[in-house]
Amino acid sequence: MPNRLLQSVFRAYRSELDQQRQPLKNRKAIDAITACRFPEMGVSTYRCAQGHDTWEHYHSCRHRSCYLCAEHRRLSG
Ligand SMILES: [Zn+2]
Repeated sequence: MPNRLLQSVFRAYRSELDQQRQPLKNRKAIDAITACRFPEMGVSTYRCAQGHDTWEHYHSCRHRSCYLCAEHRRLSG
């Protein structure tokens, strides 16, 4: 399970971050990291072929600055 500390900080201080002037590239990175693997990024629902179980998979942001996505790419080789 990836460490979500930075994402938690971004989510907790989102309103303060939005009030600060930032370059567009920083704002895009903050937006991506904040939403990565949360419902606002979108969700796919899967179901087993026999219909016994369903599960949801939250989409990742795939932003180059996102450490969650980078860790996933690193671990999946
Ligand atoms: Zn991401």
